[in-house]
Amino acid sequence: MKNRKKLGIIGLVVVLAIISFAGCSSNDVKTGNNDVNITTDVVVIGSGGAGLAAALEVKNAGKEVIVLEKMPIIGGNTLRATGGLNAAGSSAQATLGLEDTVEAFFTDTMKGGYDKNDPELVQILAEESAEAVEWLLSMGGDFNDVGKLAGATNTRAHRPTGGAPVGPEVVKTLRSALEESGVKIMTETIALKLIEEDGKVIGVIAEDKDGKEFTINATSVVLATGGFGANSTMLVEYNKDLEGFGTTNHSGATGDGIAMAQEVGAALVDIEEIQTHPTAVPSNGYMITEAVRGNGAILINRDGERFVNELATRDVVSAAMLAQEGKTGFLFFDQGVTDSLKAIDGYIKQGIVTEGETLEELAEKAGINPENLKATLTDYNQYVASKEDKDFGRNDMPRSLENSKYYAIEVGPAVHHTMGGIKINTEAQVLNAEGKAIAGLYAAGEVTGGVHGGNRLGGNALTDLIVFGRIAGRSAVNN
Ligand SMILES: Cc1cc2nc3c(=O)[nH]c(=O)nc-3n(C[C@H](O)[C@H](O)[C@H](O)COP(=O)(O)OP(=O)(O)OC[C@H]3O[C@@H](n4cnc5c(N)ncnc54)[C@H](O)[C@@H]3O)c2cc1C
Repeated sequence: MKNRKKLGIIGLVVVLAIISFAGCSSNDVKTGNNDVNITTDVVVIGSGGAGLAAALEVKNAGKEVIVLEKMPIIGGNTLRATGGLNAAGSSAQATLGLEDTVEAFFTDTMKGGYDKNDPELVQILAEESAEAVEWLLSMGGDFNDVGKLAGATNTRAHRPTGGAPVGPEVVKTLRSALEESGVKIMTETIALKLIEEDGKVIGVIAEDKDGKEFTINATSVVLATGGFGANSTMLVEYNKDLEGFGTTNHSGATGDGIAMAQEVGAALVDIEEIQTHPTAVPSNGYMITEAVRGNGAILINRDGERFVNELATRDVVSAAMLAQEGKTGFLFFDQGVTDSLKAIDGYIKQGIVTEGETLEELAEKAGINPENLKATLTDYNQYVASKEDKDFGRNDMPRSLENSKYYAIEVGPAVHHTMGGIKINTEAQVLNAEGKAIAGLYAAGEVTGGVHGGNRLGGNALTDLIVFGRIAGRSAVNN
């Protein structure tokens, strides 16, 4: 009798702990057969930028939300983003005297995606991009530096002051706001399956870190599980040329959301469109941000020669890189570029950068032909001065490369972004094969397809996940 009473108290404590962990005020918690059923308004699966933005919109609308994250830390690929978040017409651009328009953003994105993009989604992306930045700024984020990434007509890639990596700032800003509003995120908790009843999605079956399955009943579910850039089986299934490729993605990018959505009848779009990033470190897939080229670096091969317009789209630069000896090349830059972008300090600290006081020293250490390197730089610096790249037509050459020290990073293409995914409409509702919305189910971020078409422009994924993450959150509330 005494023992039964003790067990009862322990059981009550466990149940209360689960309620408070999930951050739900009105949960209906039952136990039995090792199952715990939680009821909330909205479940968000995934704690990258899309999931955090959606969760915040739900909470701001006065509804309860639970965020599930299978990894021990939050942030997913968003935490890795370095180069920038594209927006046209922001206050940060105005402060720096940079002109840009929604129309130019739209046109660049469609052109970059070879017009395969869904124009309705792209219009929203462009129209709401500035508001996405203002929203993050209003929560105390630093997105005041603006740089230029490949494929953009205007300078619109927002990032922290000094060009520090942008992804950690996005995650930090959203996480702080969620913490302030009392939303907790269940880490090491994987969503396994969507629960469907009469054609509606009404919850999720999940598993905690001890392998215990439980059910969350909800009015709406938001899929924000990211892409499948770390799932080699899926990558090769959709593009056999990617056999053996490395990846820049975090290990949790395994396409779970795509599989879960397909089980309830979701349609996919552009699923075969997989982007490789041309400048990843071959030994570990670590990505060197496009902003290094945007701030002035050039690409050279072992012969010390340029071989492509460094600011061409990622597919073009990747293909040119694969045609070089060893299927790799070198990012080459000088002290001026290094001083312009804080992210480079991080690369130097990691030991992936070769340095030389002189061009000869650098060339010898990196295994580059020194005479050709010198000739290449003489030509390139003349092109910078005359604002005309006679070799490859690069139209943005922000600085000459002539200030010691000199730097080189060996780079090659790696899988970077899965541009296709779940088909959504402008309300972030998940669509089935007939184009009808699946009730109760929403999706945003890299798990979806349609925004990027056949090629994603650098800086557009972060815009996508804030803009459509917010829309998914609002639609989930309105359901
Ligand atoms: C190295 C790198 C640099 C990049 N730089 C930029 C940049 O500068 N600008 C830009 O615009 N884009 C950039 N990108 C792309 C961009 O970061 C991603 O496309 C974007 O962050 C994806 O956000 P997301 O919220 O959709 O998914 P993620 O941020 O990947 O988050 C998804 C989360 O869902 C979790 N999850 C998955 N399955 C489950 C499950 N079954 N249960 C529970 N949780 C689950 C994952 O663990 C993950 O935490 C970069 C990408 C990489 C890899």
